[in-house]
Amino acid sequence: MWSSVGRENSQDLTYKIIPYFIVKAMVDIIGQNATKVILRKIDMFNLLELRETPSLDETIPLENLLRLMEINMKIFGESYAVFSRKAGYDAAREVKFPDTIMNIIEDSSKFADWRRSMKKISERLLAPFGSRVEQNLLDDGYVTKIYKCPECRGLKTNKPCCYFLSSFIGGIIKRLFNIEVNVNEVRCIALGEEFCEFRVILKR
Ligand SMILES: [Zn+2]
Repeated sequence: MWSSVGRENSQDLTYKIIPYFIVKAMVDIIGQNATKVILRKIDMFNLLELRETPSLDETIPLENLLRLMEINMKIFGESYAVFSRKAGYDAAREVKFPDTIMNIIEDSSKFADWRRSMKKISERLLAPFGSRVEQNLLDDGYVTKIYKCPECRGLKTNKPCCYFLSSFIGGIIKRLFNIEVNVNEVRCIALGEEFCEFRVILKR
């Protein structure tokens, strides 16, 4: 069910940390050799040779991420989500945040609303890709819409597929605010929607 559409814009970019952490998760789960075979097939061997974790400001053509997601979907079917989920959690835990993000965190201690801080952080993080962020507050969390999603635009699937972003959002809320949430993607650009929509709800 996976295919790509709308590849005409070759300038589209995404975070380098997404494919980087997906490849790391693949090595952890299926081993170095199997990962090598897959990366060689799509001519992305260089992802395995990165010595340092890319920073959040580094970008890569979206095309490369889509190639990686597509081959994994072809080989592993829906189990592919395991790689992206793990990648999102690992990235949230390990990635170094730029100073601008740390400033938002410091400010947020004055206002004491993690949800509003998350909106600012999302806007800052998604700025390089021209992704717009909208947020509606709920009593026990928030709903956020992300236009021009850096994970899935250009893909066509039969269910929401932004597993990296879902676990990344949950992971950074845990890391930055020490709050446990469940994150569910309820609408997705890959399903033909105009935006991806995530429900971020406090765990009880
Ligand atoms: Zn999505």
